[in-house]
Amino acid sequence: MNILSIQNLSKTYQSGNRKLTVLDDVNFDLAIGETISIVGPSGSGKTTLLGLCAGLDSASSGSVVLNGASLEKLSEDQRAAIRNQHVGFIFQNFQLLPTLTALENVMVPLELKKRKDARTKAMELLEKVGLGDRMTHYPTQLSGGEQQRVSIARAFANDPKILFADEPTGNLDTETGEMIERLIFDLNKEKGTTLVLVTHDTELAAKTQRIIHIKGGKIQEDNHA
Ligand code: ADP
Repeated sequence: MNILSIQNLSKTYQSGNRKLTVLDDVNFDLAIGETISIVGPSGSGKTTLLGLCAGLDSASSGSVVLNGASLEKLSEDQRAAIRNQHVGFIFQNFQLLPTLTALENVMVPLELKKRKDARTKAMELLEKVGLGDRMTHYPTQLSGGEQQRVSIARAFANDPKILFADEPTGNLDTETGEMIERLIFDLNKEKGTTLVLVTHDTELAAKTQRIIHIKGGKIQEDNHA
């Protein structure tokens, strides 16, 4: 059973009168519970691919079927509903909301829950990532590693079926990087969450079951362990 199925996916940007092809006929399927890394040179289309898979952006052509739903057939609101229900996303630059505290940021994906339950769950998650004493801090009052941990707690909040992480350990010290790695892989082991990582870190990539190499917007290799 696949959680994600990508067919003939292409993405182009128009820049003046030039067409820039960023993804060119990408195809792959991901089984439920699989762990996979997407690697490749800077500018090869990895972040764009991740955004399309997660329904954050729409393709120029081709299809993305996420948890049984064809994203290109849905409105932006419907895609957002699927993301809220099933998807966790860890952004390269965290994307925490600056006007909200750490706790409130983690509560964002829990808006459909009763406020008291959302708060309890968000507090548990912040404890889990070692930020029990930072709940009322605002993003600017947190270090990069702490902000990344808040963004991980937020990504875990809705018990996602699939977690997308864009350079989750990039720019972090070794200790924080290892902690984040452990949290992500534990989620896969404990809850069977499918993991899709974009990373430059070859050691991290080697810990996933499968590595897709992408170059110039095309899949060059798709290696299963
Ligand atoms: P990677 O994650 O592999 O570094 P990206 O997916 O971020 O690559 O970017 C791939 C290419 O798409 C780059 O050449 C980048 O400049 C271009 N690109 C990304 N987003 C846009 C955009 N919104 N408009 C135009 N070009 C873009």
